[in-house]
Amino acid sequence: MSATHYEVLVLGGGINGRCALFHLLERGVKRVGLIERFGLDHQRGSSHSHSRVTRSAYVNASYVRLMQVAHGQEWPRLERAMGEQLIFPNAGCFFGPPGGRFEQYAEAVTQVGVDCDVLDLPEAQKRFPMFAFPTAMGAVHDRTAGVIAAQRTMSGLIRYAADRGASLHTHTRVLDIDPGRVIRLHTESQGEQGTFTCDRLIITAGPWTMALLPWLKPRLTVARQTVGYFRLRGEPSDFGVGRWPVWGNLGADHDVTYYGLPSFGRDGIKLARHVTHEVDDDPDEVPDEIAAEAIADLRRYLEAEFIPPVEEFLGAEHCHYTNTATEDFIIDLHPEDKRIAIGAGFSGHGFKFGPVTGRALAELVCDGAVQTPEFSAMRPAFAIATQ
Ligand SMILES: Cc1cc2nc3c(=O)[nH]c(=O)nc-3n(C[C@H](O)[C@H](O)[C@H](O)COP(=O)(O)OP(=O)(O)OC[C@H]3O[C@@H](n4cnc5c(N)ncnc54)[C@H](O)[C@@H]3O)c2cc1C
Repeated sequence: MSATHYEVLVLGGGINGRCALFHLLERGVKRVGLIERFGLDHQRGSSHSHSRVTRSAYVNASYVRLMQVAHGQEWPRLERAMGEQLIFPNAGCFFGPPGGRFEQYAEAVTQVGVDCDVLDLPEAQKRFPMFAFPTAMGAVHDRTAGVIAAQRTMSGLIRYAADRGASLHTHTRVLDIDPGRVIRLHTESQGEQGTFTCDRLIITAGPWTMALLPWLKPRLTVARQTVGYFRLRGEPSDFGVGRWPVWGNLGADHDVTYYGLPSFGRDGIKLARHVTHEVDDDPDEVPDEIAAEAIADLRRYLEAEFIPPVEEFLGAEHCHYTNTATEDFIIDLHPEDKRIAIGAGFSGHGFKFGPVTGRALAELVCDGAVQTPEFSAMRPAFAIATQ
């Protein structure tokens, strides 16, 4: 056996790969490693930047229940392990026009009974006076929502893994996977070819999943997102955690959904359009410039939907979604090799589930099955076969 043999290897150092590594170490798996094609702080995938939204308000009761596991068990477990606050409680406001997903959100939170209020328009305007609500019929006020310190989580997970002896192989690209008697990964790193072997493998390759697993191509597309940061008129403290909501405008259709967060980790409130359909971008071809039209679209949205006037555009960044047609995740064992677990297709809403997904992927490769009942309830939605 070559020196670089592992019990379990994790392919891909985004939030899902890092959380899977965390749970493998928590389970006492000895020889574990992570292989990442870029550096640990790269901005090419889906998990970079300062902040992410967390919420309980979701399109169906199964997701709401799974978020209770995330908020009640797995994020607190990460915070204890790292000795740091990772989730900053912050009011959530999720609204929309009639006939859109707002009504599904309202029904799901009511069905599960999480700490959310379903508000009619006058009540929503009273509680969230920063919104103009030109098209909304009402809002879900989510008291379990918050801002995830995304960058702090990502770096904390790497520190945790390094402190416990996990091998971290960066700037190492897996070229192909050969599932023989042991699983063999052929790699390239700074022009050098290499091989890693392992007994079991977790693949969380984000927008590059289809390059490694071409048979998943029919089920996954990639959409480059443009995130903008803006200053609105008012005191800077008006737009910080505890004063400005995390929010989502659950448009009438897939692609008229916008969402945003208070200022966190950098100046300005953050917002973006949630693009999940009708595009399939190449994650290796990222334009240097942010499209002026994308910024103009966000500014138009702010001017139409918010009361405080826009004062200044402060900056923007790109990030990638890997989308499934239903926006449900793929979290399952490889159909032909039960030593391999795959996490993909997180469709722009996977960060808040990272600690739960990581646990599920570790359980799949170590036990062959997921232990969390709320997760088992979603197996049909997350299974490779049904997508
Ligand atoms: C703009 C934006 C806003 C978002 N907002 C939210 C939010 O508010 N709340 C929320 O819950 N979610 C949100 N999400 C979604 C969430 O961030 C993603 O679902 C999550 O980050 C996906 O993580 P991942 O680990 O699956 O993928 P990635 O982070 O893309 O990680 C995959 C990793 O695999 C590596 N890799 C790929 N191929 C290879 C190879 N051949 N060899 C070695 N390494 C390889 C890549 O370099 C990459 O680091 C948002 C996403 C974006 C883009």
